[in-house]
Amino acid sequence: MSLACGNGFQTLYNKAMKQTSTALLDDDKKHVWHPYSSTHSDTPVFAVKSADGVHLRLEDGNRLIDGMSSWWCAIHGYNVARLNQAIKNQLDAMAHVMFGGLTHAPAVDLCKKLVEITPGKLETVFLADTGSVAVEIALKMAVQYWHARQQPGKQQFISLRKGYHGDTLGAMSVCDPVTGMHTLFNDLLAKNYFISSPECAFGEACQTEHLDELRHTLEQQHDTVAALILEPIVQGAGGMKFYSADYLKQARDLCREYDVLLIADEIATGFGRSGKLFACEHANISPDIMCVGKSLTGGYMTLAATLCRKEISDTISNHPPNVFMHGPTFMGNPLACAVAIESIRLLQSSPWQQTISNIERWLEKGLEPCRALESVEDVRVLGAIGVVELKQAVNMAVIQQAFVDEGVWIRPFGKLVYLMPPYIISEEELNALTRAIYTVLNNGKHL
Ligand SMILES: *Cc1c(COP(=O)(O)O)cnc(C)c1O
Repeated sequence: MSLACGNGFQTLYNKAMKQTSTALLDDDKKHVWHPYSSTHSDTPVFAVKSADGVHLRLEDGNRLIDGMSSWWCAIHGYNVARLNQAIKNQLDAMAHVMFGGLTHAPAVDLCKKLVEITPGKLETVFLADTGSVAVEIALKMAVQYWHARQQPGKQQFISLRKGYHGDTLGAMSVCDPVTGMHTLFNDLLAKNYFISSPECAFGEACQTEHLDELRHTLEQQHDTVAALILEPIVQGAGGMKFYSADYLKQARDLCREYDVLLIADEIATGFGRSGKLFACEHANISPDIMCVGKSLTGGYMTLAATLCRKEISDTISNHPPNVFMHGPTFMGNPLACAVAIESIRLLQSSPWQQTISNIERWLEKGLEPCRALESVEDVRVLGAIGVVELKQAVNMAVIQQAFVDEGVWIRPFGKLVYLMPPYIISEEELNALTRAIYTVLNNGKHL
């Protein structure tokens, strides 16, 4: 009797949750535009009610294992007690103050921490609100530096094909011109130089000819080029490719040789994702300018930063107009800075190298069976990043629903089905993710 009552209540409750979810999704479809999406898309959208650990709880009652870390960000998972507390403590002191003429402990402590943990001598930190803005700042910094060095003609950039650096106009101008749809914005985008994506894979040595194009472009254009911008080791949203540390090392040397700055965009790779705290460490190099973002706050708030060598900030500051021409309204937001410091401390106090290396092993083992599938072109793993590249682009509407039916949150793009789970994931939970990929691809639910 009591059991029957319980079940009856459960049924009513489930029905109510489904109704809430449906109402929410109806309004969403009417008024809300999602990232890179059509308002007439038949690709489903799912309403999330809460998130905890590695799980997303949907409004309809479903619980999914998260394989995306909310786009590289939620490295510690969701609803993390220490991170919640850091924000609560800061909230009681102050949520925000302007950063012009004012400073505060969360910003100072965070900048000090970033200087301490980033490779080489990056000693000046400029805080930004998003990754794209951190890239804009890096580009402007490079141009102002050469202006101060009496070389105002150096205003262009070299970047790698298949690169991704953000969606604002400056950042877009150094993204892959094809996947970035540069033709659409032709008159608006700055003209930059694109060189082939590195052909030498991670773990391989580079031949001299692999750097010929970069060397040639530098030789020809160094008078007009302010910097080479690249994602070190992992080309993320532009193709999920892992390239040789040797390439990065030689690119560093070539930049020095031709008086061109090196900007490392570590927005996706920073904070352990590739197996090193920063991907530049694979090649043992230090860039002149570095961007961080995404997992900087453990996925809690939007925050990014651009770091540079002191000589760069000094040179800009010592020559007219004697200031760096940038200053976002929400620069150095105290809540975001406070949770960023706590996220870095949490990472540093964990055995993260071991954790990432475990995830790497589980990903390799779990994704291996996919190699045998007809539709699969390549399977590759580096650190806590696992990629299954297909021969053809997936059908998003079909595959997205199929993954949710398997109880996992995995969001492919184009030909790429990939995982970058929160670092706290267990072997069993990770196996559920890799098994879901195999099952969905094996059943042809991506076509
Ligand atoms: C995501 C990303 C960006 C842009 O960051 P946003 O916070 O989305 O503006 C820039 N560079 C790289 C390498 C990224 O992965």
